[in-house]
Amino acid sequence: MQLNDPTLFRQQAYIDGAWQDADSGQALQVTNPATNEVLGSVPKMGAAETRRAIDAANRALPAWRALTAKERAQKLRRWHELLLENQDDLGRLMTLEQGKPLAEAKGEIAYAASFLEWFAEEAKRIYGDTIPGHQADKRIIVIKQPIGVTAAITPWNFPAAMITRKVGPALAAGCTMVLKPASQTPFSALALAELAERAGIPKGVFSVVTGSAGEIGGELTSNPIVRKLSFTGSTEIGRQLMAECAQDIKKLSLELGGNAPFIVFDDADLDKAVEGAMASKYRNAGQTCVCANRLYIQDGVYDAFVEKLKAAVATLKIGNGLDEGVTTGPLIDDKAVAKVEEHIADALGQGAEIVTGGKPHALGGSFFEPTILVNVPKSAKISREETFGPLAPLFRFKDEDEVIAMANDTEFGLASYFYARDLSRVFRVAEALEYGMVGINTGLISNEVAPFGGIKASGLGREGSKYGIEDYLEIKYLCLGL
Ligand code: ADP
Repeated sequence: MQLNDPTLFRQQAYIDGAWQDADSGQALQVTNPATNEVLGSVPKMGAAETRRAIDAANRALPAWRALTAKERAQKLRRWHELLLENQDDLGRLMTLEQGKPLAEAKGEIAYAASFLEWFAEEAKRIYGDTIPGHQADKRIIVIKQPIGVTAAITPWNFPAAMITRKVGPALAAGCTMVLKPASQTPFSALALAELAERAGIPKGVFSVVTGSAGEIGGELTSNPIVRKLSFTGSTEIGRQLMAECAQDIKKLSLELGGNAPFIVFDDADLDKAVEGAMASKYRNAGQTCVCANRLYIQDGVYDAFVEKLKAAVATLKIGNGLDEGVTTGPLIDDKAVAKVEEHIADALGQGAEIVTGGKPHALGGSFFEPTILVNVPKSAKISREETFGPLAPLFRFKDEDEVIAMANDTEFGLASYFYARDLSRVFRVAEALEYGMVGINTGLISNEVAPFGGIKASGLGREGSKYGIEDYLEIKYLCLGL
């Protein structure tokens, strides 16, 4: 594995401050998607181990909640520093299990650390209210308190950042948390747990349970001690978890699928639009929930945009993320490749044409050629479903109303993007897009200071920003009679 600090590579789960194997002794193998080599294994845990983690989180809660905000903040701050001090190792570990280029992986570690820093700061700003009483002898005070024991289930596409943007606000608010990371990328999660311990986060406050998604998820949603679940992943699983949480009326944060439109108007700065499309579409090999999924290009600039995008895509270097200069790694697995192929075949069958790419890469495995399709019809599958791969389908449009209608014609509402210079149009379009986030003349919108989240079937709640901590707080109102 060749880490500067080999103790960051943990092959056991972290429950109640102790490294543990599964009760059954069974393990799950983790492979490198670039080489198919087995990197190691993690315990295949189920409901019993999850229950113990939840009980530990419950025992740890009173003391953690009772710390001053500043005391909790100091530990989160230290955790943040440890992520940055170990950025090289954490980045390498991530590239090995996830496939993204090393520079991107290290960038994600900085991004992950930024949530711990931000919420360490926000911990001290959990303000309440005083409200003028409704009667002369009454005083009304509003306080905010931690929800209690919380749970998180996270995906493989951002193996570190999707964790810290949940555990950061949870711990800052005074909650404790049990995490189930994605089975494809558990080593990043376990390394974070190791660093949490070094940062002085007390035992039981943050546990990481690896193993069977169904069994661990089932316990997290059915155990009445857990008061809140935060999930990032597919809409299908989100819907299922929401139904499971209905039993106890657990609070939920859901960050689910997207189907981002990326619109380029005639008056756009085309070079900037191409730059934005490259970042938004091909970052992480197209495997982010805010990736441009449908590119709508206005008639007057359509051909020029195609040429410029084609030239930019030709500069991408596909390969093992550890190799120098590689910009695009493999897809996470064969299933992901099959989905991209299905979307391409469907679009071609309906009259679309390939400009570049279109098939698995010569490197084999789950490597796929960055692809551009033109003349994609509205009826193509890709206009309704998220591809989650390096496929840019280009649709042609004539006017603003038409493109807004097409952009909004989806069950999803996470990210959207458009490029335009006319100020009135900028406001009109930004307000008309039915999305939680709108990137205007930029393809990169994720950061810790802004509220990330979606509307419609893309989810509930917001992560990051001053709003992110509210998802881990309950409002209590005190009515004081004099
Ligand atoms: P993706 O397509 O990104 O893998 P999923 O929604 O399948 O999205 O997975 C996201 C996370 O949800 C992963 O940690 C996965 O293990 C977990 N997961 C999958 N199925 C279930 C389930 N039935 N219950 C709880 N968690 C699940």
